[in-house]
Amino acid sequence: MDTDYAIIGGGVVGLSIAWGLLKRGKHVVVLDGEDGGFRASRGNFGLVWVQSKGLNQPRYAEWCQQSAAAWRGFADELGEATGGNLGLEQDGGYDFHFSEESLEETVAKYEVLKAKLGGNYPYEVLRGNALRREEPEIGSAVVGAILHEQDGHVNPLRLLQSLAQAVRGLGGAS
Ligand SMILES: Cc1cc2nc3c(=O)[nH]c(=O)nc-3n(C[C@H](O)[C@H](O)[C@H](O)COP(=O)(O)OP(=O)(O)OC[C@H]3O[C@@H](n4cnc5c(N)ncnc54)[C@H](O)[C@@H]3O)c2cc1C
Repeated sequence: MDTDYAIIGGGVVGLSIAWGLLKRGKHVVVLDGEDGGFRASRGNFGLVWVQSKGLNQPRYAEWCQQSAAAWRGFADELGEATGGNLGLEQDGGYDFHFSEESLEETVAKYEVLKAKLGGNYPYEVLRGNALRREEPEIGSAVVGAILHEQDGHVNPLRLLQSLAQAVRGLGGAS
């Protein structure tokens, strides 16, 4: 088979690269494993996460922010190409804490990172009643949570399925 690119692995990474190349008019073949094989792309939590990433590496933290910001356009484009809905929601995410110490420790780290990012690290700390007003079902063992505005999630199975469909739709071979 003649092809410009052979991509080994049909998880989200391989399929995303394949889709990008196909959109640029390249011929692509994706070589994947068995249907029953374990795939991180199938078993992950679907978090599109920013908080706590790159705590000691501000540039990496910025990449995570840029990547999360690019998700809406990516999800819309993929949804339009496949007629699917990836279930992307980016209305914030919680990091729950079971002790004041760990909460304070984490907030201190976030403040250091926030300063390095020029203040672009939008989060708030919710404790006690403030947290329970937002999340009434939360257990009493949780002393507080950090709500980071840039966090979100996507449906990982729909993402994988849509990418595979988009790749096939543009003539990608497998
Ligand atoms: C439990 C868990 C939870 C996670 N939660 C999140 C999360 O919330 N948010 C997040 O961003 N990330 C999360 N991740 C990480 C994320 O899932 C992975 O970074 C991502 O799925 C990696 O995609 P991939 O395509 O590189 O790998 P995979 O999905 O593992 O795909 C690799 C593919 O390569 C194929 N393959 C392997 N060897 C060969 C071979 N020799 N020949 C041909 N094909 C081969 C396999 O069959 C497979 O299809 C999580 C990971 C795990 C394990």
